[in-house]
Amino acid sequence: MKKNSIIKALLIVDVQNDFCPGGSLAVIDGDQVVPVINQLIDQFDVVCASKDWHPDQTIHFDRWPVHCVANTPGADFHPQLNQDPIDQILFKGTSNQDDGYSAFEATNINLTQWLKQKGVEELTIVGLATDYCVKASALDAVDQGFQVVVKQEAIRAVNLLPNDGNKALNEMKQAGVEIV
Ligand SMILES: [Zn+2]
Repeated sequence: MKKNSIIKALLIVDVQNDFCPGGSLAVIDGDQVVPVINQLIDQFDVVCASKDWHPDQTIHFDRWPVHCVANTPGADFHPQLNQDPIDQILFKGTSNQDDGYSAFEATNINLTQWLKQKGVEELTIVGLATDYCVKASALDAVDQGFQVVVKQEAIRAVNLLPNDGNKALNEMKQAGVEIV
């Protein structure tokens, strides 16, 4: 198949207030992915965006500060993110027993089925954070048979340990993800 004829989708991972500066689980420079995403968002046939969407009590908060509780301002998309092109929002981490790092764990739709119904072959992943939800989503996407691209300029890492972001990039590369 010709390269320009394949259907390409963009997955925007968790570009939510709580993961941006000022949020309860802020990723350093997390908001800097927003202009980059806005610039490339129109290049895709299909756009979906995940939201961490937690109940107010969950085992997930034994590991992390309280963040992205459903229907709170912290769970909103960053206000500068261009939401108009988003075809589907994916809610994940919605039960009190699951972390929901991967967008493929969304509970409101089956992401693999949704993408395949649209004929998507290549999935580009951007957003927050490199070492958790971006990585988990990228590895699942490879497992589901998609060609996966991660745009380095449009992701940021939590880096609980200083090298976590780089380790995540290597892990994704080894799994077959194209880092650009
Ligand atoms: Zn979370």
